[in-house]
Amino acid sequence: MGKKTQPPLLLLLFLSGLVHCSATFVFWTANVEISFVNSYNETEEKYCECGLYGRNSLRTRAFGIVTLPVGDPKGCGPDPVYNRNETSPPWIALVKRGNCTFGEKINAAKRLGAAAVVVYNVDGSGNSTTHMAHSDADEIVAIMIGNTQGMEIVRLVKNGIDVQMIISEGMAHGPWMDTYWLYFLSIAFFIVTAASIAYFVFISANRLYNMSMSKRNEKRLKSEAKKAIKRLQVRTLKRGDEETSSDSSMCAVCIESYKVGDVVTVLTCDHIFHKTCIEPWLLERRTCPMCKCDILKALGVEDDRKESFSAESPPDVTVITVTGDALYEVPLTDPGSLDPERQQHRYDNRAFEEDSEAARG
Ligand SMILES: [Zn+2]
Ligand SMILES: [Zn+2]
Repeated sequence: MGKKTQPPLLLLLFLSGLVHCSATFVFWTANVEISFVNSYNETEEKYCECGLYGRNSLRTRAFGIVTLPVGDPKGCGPDPVYNRNETSPPWIALVKRGNCTFGEKINAAKRLGAAAVVVYNVDGSGNSTTHMAHSDADEIVAIMIGNTQGMEIVRLVKNGIDVQMIISEGMAHGPWMDTYWLYFLSIAFFIVTAASIAYFVFISANRLYNMSMSKRNEKRLKSEAKKAIKRLQVRTLKRGDEETSSDSSMCAVCIESYKVGDVVTVLTCDHIFHKTCIEPWLLERRTCPMCKCDILKALGVEDDRKESFSAESPPDVTVITVTGDALYEVPLTDPGSLDPERQQHRYDNRAFEEDSEAARG
């Protein structure tokens, strides 16, 4: 049973892993729109879907005047200075990545009333961004933009230009949005399903095969045991026999003392039991209950069986022979019918009688 539960469990683990991975890989881009008055006194607008919402960021729209921290552009420390506060018009903190955690930068600006925090990447990283993790700083819009975009805005602000920024939600990106990933998932799913089915088929076939083999083996052993039983000596106990005169002598199967007239079977190891007690035992176990002596081995029935196997191979064909006045069906392939010992024990042995009756139909 333990084995049977493995494939569904693996499948479940695989799928939950997949869901977990998918949740980790999913991210949202942010549209970043800036507007400012240029040196020609014209309002210039720039737009790009170049921001990336942090993992713990609110994914809502935010707008305000871009504000840099005074001094350290990275906005670290417990009290970075921004020339704005909660009562100022909406403002967005623009800080550089590094020196402290994203959470620290975001929380510092949030405390001073920033509408959003934009972190730009380190020098030399071009337009690349990373998916910020800031579990200690949520409930605020926090995005990352590339170093190039960040530095461009920093230059404008440092030149005393008021830069208005609007952040809005862009597209959701996840593993499933990728065609290759979709192919990979389909193939992986197909492989896992096919492997599970193949495993089940293999296990079931194997189990069925083992069951049929053990049934066949059991049947064979039973028939061998019947043959062996037929060859065992059967006695009827008489007055004066050692077994009836001694109180300590008893049948180990039924734990009863022997009485005159009891029919007993003598095993190859010379142990004696009631015939009616030992025969069912031997059919099931084929060994002496007292000394575990194997009667099949002792009587060489296994070897007989192997020798006669080829003779038994053809399918049973019955012919009708006339013996006296009665009609009997005699299996042609029954080697027992030619066995002289079988005839000898015919009336001594119940197992054999059952056999004969069965053969006669
Ligand atoms: Zn008994
Ligand atoms: Zn014995």
